[in-house]
Amino acid sequence: MTQTAANGRILRSGSHLKDTTTFPPFFSCPGEVKDIWPMIVRLMVDVEDIEGRKCRVAMHIQDRGMSFMQKKNLVKAGHTIAVLYPMSHQFMDFSEGFRIEDPSNVMFIRSSLKELFDADTKVRSPLPAKCCADNCDKDEDLQACSGCRITRYCGKEHQAAHWGAHKAECKAISALSWFHNKDWTRFQNRQWFSFPPP
Ligand SMILES: [Zn+2]
Ligand SMILES: [Zn+2]
Repeated sequence: MTQTAANGRILRSGSHLKDTTTFPPFFSCPGEVKDIWPMIVRLMVDVEDIEGRKCRVAMHIQDRGMSFMQKKNLVKAGHTIAVLYPMSHQFMDFSEGFRIEDPSNVMFIRSSLKELFDADTKVRSPLPAKCCADNCDKDEDLQACSGCRITRYCGKEHQAAHWGAHKAECKAISALSWFHNKDWTRFQNRQWFSFPPP
């Protein structure tokens, strides 16, 4: 079953981030990175899910997580990590979390969890009726932002003026397309994040 968002994007079954069947909030992702451990043995991050519960994600992979660390501005507090097919693991110090053995099951996203949830809601809402720039009421001949195809403007000038406020949101909406394009109710075929991550 598919649904079409206001901006024309196809939303496949179960792709709603608030669908707890496909994106259960505990020990599942996405979750937001809160702390990054010093890179001594391997990359480890402490993650907080949408309900505020914390867990650890440790990269037990061949390069110890270096490929993620080498991507500029990717592994950072306030960014989001998503893990496919997470397996709960109890670490030596009895803390719980995920032990990652396949890097293609992990994606870091340069947006906060809240930004992604807000973007998810926005994609499912009707398009704004008037120009999105502050204090502009124009509601005719609006042109959509080419990045997200959701915010709309009366012209280039107002689009440029609003970019500072819209940039993070636009990026979050784009990051969601990977999730929206998948039918999360079907698990016959295993899914992988494209690796290296975007
Ligand atoms: Zn305007
Ligand atoms: Zn945009």
